[in-house]
Amino acid sequence: MNRKPFIAGNWKMNMTAESGAKLIGELKPLVKDADCDVALCVPAILIPAMTEAAKGSNIKIGAQNMHWEPKGAYTGEIDADMLKEYGVEYVIIGHSERRQYFGETDETVNKRTKAVLAAGMTPIMCIGETLTEREGGITEKVLSAQLETDLAGVEDVTKVVIAYEPVWAIGTGRTATDEQAQETIAFIRKKIGELFCPKCAEKVIIQYGGSMNAGNCKGLMAQPDIDGGLIGGASLKLDFATIVNYNK
Ligand code: PEP
Repeated sequence: MNRKPFIAGNWKMNMTAESGAKLIGELKPLVKDADCDVALCVPAILIPAMTEAAKGSNIKIGAQNMHWEPKGAYTGEIDADMLKEYGVEYVIIGHSERRQYFGETDETVNKRTKAVLAAGMTPIMCIGETLTEREGGITEKVLSAQLETDLAGVEDVTKVVIAYEPVWAIGTGRTATDEQAQETIAFIRKKIGELFCPKCAEKVIIQYGGSMNAGNCKGLMAQPDIDGGLIGGASLKLDFATIVNYNK
């Protein structure tokens, strides 16, 4: 199955218009010959300036969250039209930091995912188990439950990018081994096959996320079910270009 790899950065709550534009300017020539799709998901307020900075390059600018309602009294939230006005194509949904610190639940992840799809954009939908859950041997049970609720009512699952991000590996410097990541992502693909259809599952892009860096990207990307990465810390530096060029 030919799935085009997809490497996306998640700047989280980092960078300013000035430092972000400088980094994008430096990244542009370094990633121009990438064989994968490339995106940087930036803080909402930086989307206009980063879109301008990335103009004429293969770097797409994405968002880190989106509300499911088209507009209204939802202080602090961002809607689909606001993102689309700047040409945003990708929106991270259900990142573990949003689940952990901002009350995001599988139900709200499901609403946001469906709203991103309805608006014609691509959700990068994050799932993953905690360390206690992995050590308790319930990783597959946890991921199954997340997939069942998060993807409920989604019509075309091939339009969703899944980011498998073991919570214990995010921002900790502790990466899943190539084998652990492959095994778990293969399980996720199998589960999507059961929930939708095996042919659809073969088309779904599934990224690995969790301390992926310039040193470990080659091994992770060599795994047959790993189609890309969601990169936090390393997307704030030129290392991001090394990850994008993992196959060179
Ligand atoms: C992330 O933000 O999704 C992430 C994986 O972060 P880090 O690469 O820093 O672990």
